[in-house]
Amino acid sequence: MSKINSKTTRTITLGCRFNFYESEVMKLSEDLVSDGEDTIIINTCSVTREAERQSKQIVRKAIRENIGAKIIVTGCAAKTARDYFENLSGVAKVVQNEDKGDMDISKLQTGQSHYLFESRARAFLQIQNGCDHFCSYCIVPITRGRSKSVPPDFILKHIDYFVDRGFNEIVLSGIDITSYGKDSSDLSEPYDLHVILEKVLERTHLYKTRLRLSSIDPAAVNQNLLNLFLFEPRMMPYFHFSIQSGNNEVLKVMRRRHSREDVIELCSQIRKNRNQSVIGGDLIVGFPTETDAMFDDSLNLVDDAGLSLIHVFPYSARNGTLAAQMINLPATIIRERAAKLKEKANFAKTSLLRTLIGTTISGLIEKRDHTVSIGKSDSYLPFRVNHPFRSGEVVHDLKVIDVNQDELVAESNNV
Ligand code: SF4
Repeated sequence: MSKINSKTTRTITLGCRFNFYESEVMKLSEDLVSDGEDTIIINTCSVTREAERQSKQIVRKAIRENIGAKIIVTGCAAKTARDYFENLSGVAKVVQNEDKGDMDISKLQTGQSHYLFESRARAFLQIQNGCDHFCSYCIVPITRGRSKSVPPDFILKHIDYFVDRGFNEIVLSGIDITSYGKDSSDLSEPYDLHVILEKVLERTHLYKTRLRLSSIDPAAVNQNLLNLFLFEPRMMPYFHFSIQSGNNEVLKVMRRRHSREDVIELCSQIRKNRNQSVIGGDLIVGFPTETDAMFDDSLNLVDDAGLSLIHVFPYSARNGTLAAQMINLPATIIRERAAKLKEKANFAKTSLLRTLIGTTISGLIEKRDHTVSIGKSDSYLPFRVNHPFRSGEVVHDLKVIDVNQDELVAESNNV
């Protein structure tokens, strides 16, 4: 919530890190809000049918509970459910993603007491938007348009902004981040993801700023990028891949550009060459044409590729996508497979956590609850330590002494 000229602007955000970044900027910019009005900006998501249903529900609730406030609906469901929101009484404005206003933070009101992500331990920066791939199940190219890279000088200016405000960790995000620079007609010189990462690492060298990336397309990891993952200590050793299926036939129908074998090979290279690296991935279950045997390939990929942090997405048809024209599997089958994979995912995570008892970890403190500090390790694993560290602080030499549910319990050698 921010207070500018005695109005309040609040944001409610669903979906991806992308939306969170844009909400932070919208909250502080004046592009969307006008003087003297309490405004609620709801940044919606429609990556799945369930996400769109929740977006509609949250907008209706905001209207009901905030009589008199100006309700602005934006985000991906503002496109996929435009008619619904434009006809919903109580909604003042429906704003498409491309009209969310200028994301240039230096244009933010100077002398503002608030800054981006001030309540968060790490900062997020969007470096690429949109996507050109049109995977057969995905609505994103429709809701976010073609791939567009943020110019390097714009990125570096924002990195300075975050470093100046004391952030020790920055997450660089993109809808299809590995296609950074591919639309280089808009950029001064040819770029790709590893080039801009090296520029950011160079810019933050003195501050030892730690970098993380949003979800990565396994098909687009070239040797230069892989070398950064393996040998650059300030690239945090957690890699989240948009894998989607463990079966090659399903991957083909999904119009993905990698094979099961590519994922296994990539993950084995990372695990062999980068200490304490943890690998995660997105997997869709119940995609049209997926047989029991094909689903088993996804289940087995968890072990074969050594995946530990898995996001399970039950397939849901999105209007306007190629897959929406295919015959859906029965909802019961989709639910069963999702439950089975979630069970496997939980086991994979807990097994990994248990192997870390007795080891030493480093990490970033995200919040503190009295004397207990909670954070994420360099490999993005949750931990708690009985020591009053500061939110945003980087801590080292934490000894893992136990696992409590799905969290590491550590003690600090600093006391
Ligand atoms: S690469 Fe990702 S964002 Fe692009 S179409 Fe495929 S799933 Fe969607």
